[in-house]
Amino acid sequence: MIVVMNGRADQTDIEKIINELKRRGLDINISRGDKRTVIGIIGDTSTLESFPFYAYSGVEKVLRVLKPYKLASREFTDQRTSIRLKNITIGGKELTMVAGPCAIENEEQIFEIAGELSRLGVKVLRGGAFKPRTSPYSFQGLGKEGLKLMSKAAKAFNLLTITEVMSVKQVDLVAEYADILQVGTRNMQNFILLKELGRIKKPVMLKRGMSATLEELLLSAEHIMSQGNREVILCERGIRTFENYTRNTLDISAIPALKELSHLPVIVDPSHGTGRWRLVNPMSKSAIVAGADGLIIEVHPHPKSSLSDGAQTLNFDTFLQLLKEIKPIANAIGREINFTDK
Ligand code: PEP
Ligand code: MN
Repeated sequence: MIVVMNGRADQTDIEKIINELKRRGLDINISRGDKRTVIGIIGDTSTLESFPFYAYSGVEKVLRVLKPYKLASREFTDQRTSIRLKNITIGGKELTMVAGPCAIENEEQIFEIAGELSRLGVKVLRGGAFKPRTSPYSFQGLGKEGLKLMSKAAKAFNLLTITEVMSVKQVDLVAEYADILQVGTRNMQNFILLKELGRIKKPVMLKRGMSATLEELLLSAEHIMSQGNREVILCERGIRTFENYTRNTLDISAIPALKELSHLPVIVDPSHGTGRWRLVNPMSKSAIVAGADGLIIEVHPHPKSSLSDGAQTLNFDTFLQLLKEIKPIANAIGREINFTDK
C-alpha cells in the first residue's frame, strides 16, 4: 500500500502517519521526491482496511499495490533508482558500459583487457571467476584466484568490477573483491542466495532466468530488496524460445516493459542474449533505443582462444567499433556515452 503526501505536508504530518503504522507492526519505506513524499507500507495491510488515512493532514491519495512485488514496483517511488558507485551512476543519463571476458583466465589476459578498457574510458570490468558451465568438464573458472586477479587489474587501471556469485557460501568472498555482484540466469530463483544478497551493502545485478517471466524476475528482485538491499540492477540476457539460430532470444520488449513495471535500472547483455558476436552490435543499438541503462558485453583480445563463449565475444577492434556506432544513437535519445578513441 502506498500513501502519497502532498507538497504541503510537513515532517510532522509525515511522522504522525508513520508512527501509527509502525505501532501496528508495519514496515515503512519513504521516498522523498521534489514535490511529494511517498510512504510505502510493507507487510499485512489487511488491518488497514478502515484506517482513516484521509483524516491525516497532507495525505493526497492512498493506493493499493496490486502487483505481487512492491519494493520493486514503479508505484513504490516516484523516482527511478540510480545507483552511485565511485565515478559512475547506473540508471543515470550516462549509459553504463560493462565489458570484459566471459572468464578470468590468467593475469596477463585480465590485465590486457583492463588496460584496453581503461584506455577507452570504459569504467566497469566484467569477468567470471566462478563459472556456471553446462558441462562439468568445461573450464569452471579460477575461483578465488580469479577474483584476486580481477581486483588487482581493476585497481591498476581504476576500474570497477562485476562478477558472478553462485552460492551462499561465496557471498562474503565475492563481496570482498567485487564492486557489483552478479546473479546468473541459472540462479535467478535461488531464493536463499537472493536473501543473502539482500543483506550485503553492495549492488546486485540480477540476470533474468532463461525461462522466467518479467513478474518472476521482479519477484526475485523483491527477495533481495525485502532484506534491505535496494540496489538491484535488472539484466535482460535473452530467454529460451524455439529459435535455435541464436543461443537465446534477446527480449528487447522486456526493456520498456520493465521500465513500466519497475523503477530499477535495466542493463542488457547482448552477448549471452545472442551467442553470436556479429549480432552483438545491432542488438546493442536496439537495446539502447528501447531504453536500456547500460550494456554488459564480452570482450577478449583473442576470442578464438577464449576458454569460454568465444563465439559471442568481441575483440578490441569490434568493441571499439561498437562504442563508436552506439554513441550517436545514445545521444539521439538523450543519453550519453563516454569513451575515448585512444
Ligand atoms: C555471465 O554473464 O558470465 C553468464 C554466465 O551469464 P548468464 O548467467 O546470463 O548465462
Ligand atoms: Mn559468458
